[in-house]
Amino acid sequence: MTDLSCSQEAALSELAGGCTRCNQLVASRTQVVFASGPVTAQLMLIGEAPGASEDREGEPFIGASGKLLSGLLEGIGLTREEVYITNVLKCRPPDNRDPRTDEISNCFGYLQGQVEIVRPAAVVTLGNFASKLMREDDSPITKVHGQAEPAKIGTHQCWLMPVFHPAAALYRRPLLELLRADFARLPSLVSSAAPAAAAADPSTASQLLVSKPGEAPDNDNDAGAASSKKASQLDLF
Ligand code: URA
Repeated sequence: MTDLSCSQEAALSELAGGCTRCNQLVASRTQVVFASGPVTAQLMLIGEAPGASEDREGEPFIGASGKLLSGLLEGIGLTREEVYITNVLKCRPPDNRDPRTDEISNCFGYLQGQVEIVRPAAVVTLGNFASKLMREDDSPITKVHGQAEPAKIGTHQCWLMPVFHPAAALYRRPLLELLRADFARLPSLVSSAAPAAAAADPSTASQLLVSKPGEAPDNDNDAGAASSKKASQLDLF
């Protein structure tokens, strides 16, 4: 199972590495930043998008907010090597601008594929973009942070926990305290039973939801809400 997951993740990463769906991002990125961490992780963290350091090094969360994130993980007895870390967007937006809805939609299939492969006990969404996308709800992070809820992502049933983005807490002590408090709830969440038995459907087990890169629309317009999560099914393996 683990070998299969590793090869599936490697294949998905390779596919993402050649992605040309978002014209602006393709033009401005140094490389695609897919993920870090083991496919066996019980905890998956989803950030917003790579920044300058991540774009340069090819690894998520290695800049200032990444250091804060590592500290938060250490605070609950984990290292970043033990958790699976990725982002809503796999490419750095130019000048660190916000992800666009069409870009989020274009990239969502990769994220959903990652969840289907890793099948973590809990998914932690860092900040508004990841939280709104995965919760399929526009409630701001200020209202929903720290509230774990059951979620079905693709075929995978797990806990979903929205928290503040580490970057927001970098220079705001009160937010950092809230973030620490929310992280402190993760170990028991991860070790608790899955929110509901996941109905494993063998016919979909080898299907990952990704859009065919060759069939990508021209994406330089803002059409398509992120919440629509339009992604076609492609039998990859
Ligand atoms: N680095 C990332 O990889 N993601 C973010 O959301 C912020 C910084």
